[in-house]
Amino acid sequence: MSKALQITNLSKTYGNGFTALKGVSLSVEKGDFFALLGANGAGKSTMIGIISSLVNKTSGEVNIHGFDLDTQRSEAKAMIGLVPQEFNFNVFEPVEEILLNQAGYYGVGRSEAKVRAKQLLEQLELWDKRKNMASELSGGMKRRLMIARALIHRPQLLILDEPTAGVDIEIRRSMWDFLKKLNEAGITIILTTHYLEEAENLCRNIAIINKGDIVENTSMKALLSHLQTETFILDLK
Ligand code: ATP
Repeated sequence: MSKALQITNLSKTYGNGFTALKGVSLSVEKGDFFALLGANGAGKSTMIGIISSLVNKTSGEVNIHGFDLDTQRSEAKAMIGLVPQEFNFNVFEPVEEILLNQAGYYGVGRSEAKVRAKQLLEQLELWDKRKNMASELSGGMKRRLMIARALIHRPQLLILDEPTAGVDIEIRRSMWDFLKKLNEAGITIILTTHYLEEAENLCRNIAIINKGDIVENTSMKALLSHLQTETFILDLK
């Protein structure tokens, strides 16, 4: 059976000659909640950019739900919902309209799009703001709007690039609850984060990326017990 995501020997060298990914291989099972952890500049956003067709790879293969990104790009793209790090919508558009336009981009009819938009805006506690310009939303609300927009075409794999960076703890917890429910409903989730607490709270499996290489790829449970053992050894010294 195909994986939610299968990456093989993925490399990326930018135009200035800098190699951000050095032949990375990774696979994520369907239904998983997966964390990609790494310091600033490790290569997480580059990897996510390639998976979501925003960045061209130098070499390697990417397969999403059985669709090859090179030869079946539109099918592969339809499987993915992306929540990027930066707000990238027109902030002078009303909230509901942002979702309806995105649905149109994926070929979802207007009346079906309205049903989906209502459902998502209610679930993400934004229904009251549907007529507001996105510019009038708080930071936490904008992030929730980005999640709603990423889900409007009903992707199987949701990728979030540091979704809770700079969000206060209360909003972060409510976003975690929403993501947990989404995962329980069968959506595969991959998120990048700087917060180990976030990965620990949400994710079953984890990959750690450092300077363009995967240095650890294991279950969250194994990583945590490994970290505890390391601390224990350090304590003994
Ligand atoms: P962060 O957590 O800060 O977002 P990251 O793990 O997502 O970091 P990337 O944004 O993928 O890291 O960057 C990986 C490396 O590639 C960095 O050294 C960065 O400076 C470099 N890089 C990213 N984009 C470009 C570009 N367009 N041209 C040249 N180098 C780039």
